[in-house]
Amino acid sequence: MEKIKMTTPLVEMDGDEMTRVLWQMIKDQLILPFVELKTEYYDLGLLHRNETRDQVTVDAANATRRLGVAVKCATITPNKQRMEEYPQLTEMWKSPNGTIRSILDGTVFRAPILIDSIHPVVKNWKKPITIARHAYGDVYKSVDMYTTEPGTATLTFKGESGEEKTITVQKVDGPAVWQGAHNKEKSIRSFARACFQYAIDTKQDLWFSTKDTIAKIYDGEFKKVFEEEFESYKAKFDELGITYFYTLIDDAVARVIRSEGGFIWACKNYDGDVMSDMVSTAFGSLAMMTSVLVSPDGTTEYEAAHGTVTKHYYKHLKGEATSTNPMATIFAWSGALRKRGQLDGLTDLAAFADKLEQACFDTLSDGTMTKDLVGLVDEGTAVTAVTSADFIAAIRSHLEKAL
Ligand code: NAP
Ligand code: MG
Repeated sequence: MEKIKMTTPLVEMDGDEMTRVLWQMIKDQLILPFVELKTEYYDLGLLHRNETRDQVTVDAANATRRLGVAVKCATITPNKQRMEEYPQLTEMWKSPNGTIRSILDGTVFRAPILIDSIHPVVKNWKKPITIARHAYGDVYKSVDMYTTEPGTATLTFKGESGEEKTITVQKVDGPAVWQGAHNKEKSIRSFARACFQYAIDTKQDLWFSTKDTIAKIYDGEFKKVFEEEFESYKAKFDELGITYFYTLIDDAVARVIRSEGGFIWACKNYDGDVMSDMVSTAFGSLAMMTSVLVSPDGTTEYEAAHGTVTKHYYKHLKGEATSTNPMATIFAWSGALRKRGQLDGLTDLAAFADKLEQACFDTLSDGTMTKDLVGLVDEGTAVTAVTSADFIAAIRSHLEKAL
């Protein structure tokens, strides 16, 4: 078979530990034999980030802005324990995902991969629910304090023009806790645009929820900005037959549980943090959760939602064959290849992405799966737990048949 051609390269960001091992297996077995792969390669492995003083992460993000589509492997975000594990680290480098997100001004959309033999805990969920979490501000960039005596707290804003604005927060008669939070209009606007753009790209309804009945100015601003931004997308939504729908967060929670799924739920930072864990757990497994970063101009970066699966990596280093689930990482590749195909008008490339995903589903339908899924499938389903290598080999044989 002649290999499928590409015109524009993908930005390829390699990563760490077990996912780096899977990365190479996926490329060697499932992509390179079939696609004349063009990538701009950036090694975001921890030691290379250290050698380049993290410049490689910035370069990869800028390349993504230039080329439009990236695929990223999971990476270690160093903490104290990692500093001991890797004594050569000269700094506790920041989360690559955080760096890339701020350069691309992007929003993260997380969606589960559904299969027939694994049913969500919520019986009526038939289609994926995608959570879009606003990733700036609110309680994540707030200050808080504890006071011990009766008194009054005020909130003051000092404008650079010299103008001041002060309001009373509360008068208290004893010890109290306080918190000051903010968000920026610009960030809310980018969030709104990324959500509308992604709804159009994936042809799904968009829901957005806040608590604007209580936080009339704060959450009211989110609601207002979304309404304003929607004006520019409305015609496209009508043309595609999709809708934008705003409701209160408590009403949204009730509706989400009763729904069939198949929409995007945009959430403020805290709501998205909490709800994405609830939704992903109810759907099954972190290993089946995909993640895509979308910027307001439509630039996209695809990855798995899970981390580098450290425990499995240490088994791998001891020479043991692990049964780590490569699904989310394969879908990061298929997502990026499909997007590249769509942007460049390469129908073969987009069709290849579909076939690769179908080969994964066919393999799982045969009952061939990694260990993490075995406990999740419906009772009575015949399954064989296999290693990552055997799982990928089984996908390859389905893929070869389909091509
Ligand atoms: P993790 O890598 O997601 O793994 C946590 C546990 O979840 C694993 O030990 C494993 O459970 C299970 N698991 C996750 N993915 C799996 C897969 N594909 N197949 C099978 N089981 C899977 O999270 P972590 O251990 O908290 O973090 C490890 C490193 O990843 C950290 O250094 C962190 O900084 C980094 N991280 C990176 C990203 C990213 O780049 N996007 C995201 C999160 C974390 P069992 O051990 O029970 O099998
Ligand atoms: Mg969380």
